[in-house]
Amino acid sequence: MLFARRGRRFVRTPTRQHYANSHFHQHGRCHPIPHRQSNSIHRNQHNYVHAHRQRNFHNHVNIHGQPYAFPAADLHLYSVANSNRYTDINLHTLADADQHADIHTNSILHSYNHSVANPAIANLHTFSKLNHKPMTDILPFLKSLLAVSGLSAYEGPAAHLIEEKWKPLVDDITASRLGSLHALKRGHGKGRRPSVMIATHMDAIGLMVTKIVDGFLHVDEIGGIDSRILPGTPVMVHGKQDLPGVIVIPPMKTLPESAREDAIGLPYLLVDVGLLPSKTASLVRVGDLVSFDTQPVELAGDILSGHSLDNRASVAALTICLEELQTKLHRWDVWAVATAQEEETIGGAATSAFDLHPDLAVAIDVTFAKSPSANDWQAFPMGKGVTLGWGANLHPFLYKNFKELADKLEIPAAMDITPAHSGTDAYSIQVAREGIPTMLLGIPLRYMHTSVELVAIKDVQRVGRLLAEFISGLEDDFVSKIVWDEE
Ligand SMILES: [Zn+2]
Repeated sequence: MLFARRGRRFVRTPTRQHYANSHFHQHGRCHPIPHRQSNSIHRNQHNYVHAHRQRNFHNHVNIHGQPYAFPAADLHLYSVANSNRYTDINLHTLADADQHADIHTNSILHSYNHSVANPAIANLHTFSKLNHKPMTDILPFLKSLLAVSGLSAYEGPAAHLIEEKWKPLVDDITASRLGSLHALKRGHGKGRRPSVMIATHMDAIGLMVTKIVDGFLHVDEIGGIDSRILPGTPVMVHGKQDLPGVIVIPPMKTLPESAREDAIGLPYLLVDVGLLPSKTASLVRVGDLVSFDTQPVELAGDILSGHSLDNRASVAALTICLEELQTKLHRWDVWAVATAQEEETIGGAATSAFDLHPDLAVAIDVTFAKSPSANDWQAFPMGKGVTLGWGANLHPFLYKNFKELADKLEIPAAMDITPAHSGTDAYSIQVAREGIPTMLLGIPLRYMHTSVELVAIKDVQRVGRLLAEFISGLEDDFVSKIVWDEE
């Protein structure tokens, strides 16, 4: 999220769904179950797509005993085994009396057990990585993203990791002139396919060297940083070579009287890299970057802490979406975009939206999670669901569509009211070209723009899943149904 520079107060300058229940079968021919109505679409190991001729009504029960229904199949039991594993046990009860048990785990195995009633179809399959990719696989990738710099306008190190991760998940991947990544996953629709752009900014906040005095580095912020939390933070100075450093404050008595009482402001903070002044001067120049050099920490309760979770948590959510789309049919083309420069200019998303000219767009960014003294309507409980943006920047039709879908999927979704500029890529996309209907999905995050931001992995997963379901449900004529109607 974009913060107003210098200010301490953040400024947010900011149908019906079609459930194509696609999955892979190991056996080399059509699904053996005799069905009556065509509904869900399956693929076998040879990538042969075939349809289940039957309505496939899901009734879901999660671990908390809350039943919920899909318009389309089965009985699902979900349990989160631990912070790194997500286990789905799905008992499917189909109309023609066969029962399926799916066990999805974080391992590469997916067991698909057809048991019963109709002995003709009773069998047991064990597949290797053919069906749902477990969502918590995302943790190592997200942690790797938090271990690199990629400051706003200098996104290279993050872009490299994202490109490697996305390559096998998309059909094509290129970089924009500003350094945003454009990844295309083609849809299955015929003829001219509409396209949806999903934007997640990959740039991070950090510091830039402004002055070098006696071997100590003075710095200014890249993105909005609360300087009160900086002293004591390990950093990496990206000079001629990378130099570890620490952010320090001068001894209190050396500061002017006026600066002693309150938190020490950025002008008085220094980076010490431990070298003699002449050596520092030979390795570091004004304009060099300084990034946080702290490792992510897994906290109890499936919570991850680290710098740059704004907005690499959203990059992770988009990655989950792309993984989910490997086993879902979608008619629309999907542009997965990792945007540059959001924290400073929101120019990466603006230029990508112009270039790609999508029919609609969704930006994903973090939003404020509730914490002590952040409990009002602008903050949302962490780990309790996603947020859906509502306000001038965001299209009310898309809001309604996402809200209905989230309700169907039993994904808690709170309205994130942003009457003015949303302070996100959603703004620059919405006003690109002749105007692009745009939506904003949010992941609640504590301690925004610090080196110890916090998110719940579960919320990251929820955003990824919601997005994948939205995309796979887009019909050819969806655009023609979009009207600006805030009722
Ligand atoms: Zn931000």
